[in-house]
Amino acid sequence: MNDAYLNGRFLPLAEATVPVLDRGFVFGDGVYELVPVYSKKPFRLDDHLRRLQASLDGIRLANPHSADAWRELIGTLVAHYDADDQSVYIQVTRGVAPRDHPFPQNTAPTVFMFTQPLVTATAEQKAAGVCAVTAVDYRWQRCDIKAISLLANILLRQQAIDAGCAETVMLRDGFLSEGAASNIFVVKDGVLRAPPPSRLMLTGITYDVVLELAQAHGIAHEVRALAEAEVRGADELWMTSSTREIMAIVTLDGVPVGSGVPGPLAQRMDALYQTFKREVMRA
Ligand code: PMP
Repeated sequence: MNDAYLNGRFLPLAEATVPVLDRGFVFGDGVYELVPVYSKKPFRLDDHLRRLQASLDGIRLANPHSADAWRELIGTLVAHYDADDQSVYIQVTRGVAPRDHPFPQNTAPTVFMFTQPLVTATAEQKAAGVCAVTAVDYRWQRCDIKAISLLANILLRQQAIDAGCAETVMLRDGFLSEGAASNIFVVKDGVLRAPPPSRLMLTGITYDVVLELAQAHGIAHEVRALAEAEVRGADELWMTSSTREIMAIVTLDGVPVGSGVPGPLAQRMDALYQTFKREVMRA
């Protein structure tokens, strides 16, 4: 099955190879996207393509394709893959060149995609919630770029894994930034709160959808800087991402969050999100 695409060709993932001097391999010099697909329909594809453009702009790499060309390539990959719900990974690197820091001249970027079945949390997992740990966010100052160089995210996330938890909630200068692979929301006294988009976090597509749903359904919400004490004193804490969707964090650094079980607003938002997804699929 052709579950991958590499530089103009659809092929099986196992056959997709790149030269070792690809700058993605030697420098992590590239960006990526992950697009969830429901019933063969890419979810919020325009938003993902806009974010891909922003990431490419951020690393000063020309977009190899127009939005229409991306839509066509992604559509072909998805149509030929034998699963209704998929996650499509897209990566663009600065291409293959002699190993040297300066941008190479006249080098074609490497364009790589693959798809696989989308695995989201089960109802049981959502009902249980997850535990998280906190860590100082020591990443760089351009976390808004969805860069493939994820070393800091991987090291920070591994702190959670080592503690038997799902996610690391990162704090920079005493304020919440995001999770190692998700955005973080705080609920206090019925008000949903999220940190404002900045260069210090990746603005998730799920983050945007959650705030849109809060707006559309009259859920009180605020987008503002959130101090560490507000995170630790939250009634509810959520992590959000395209694959985790809305997942309640029920323990933070070993301390129960609120009542220690997924809260009412998490459950309501998850229901709204699932309904919204179904509506988008039908449209
Ligand atoms: N922040 C980081 C660091 C992430 O890796 C992700 C997931 N890719 C997110 C936020 C959430 O983004 P999205 O909702 O678009 O999946």
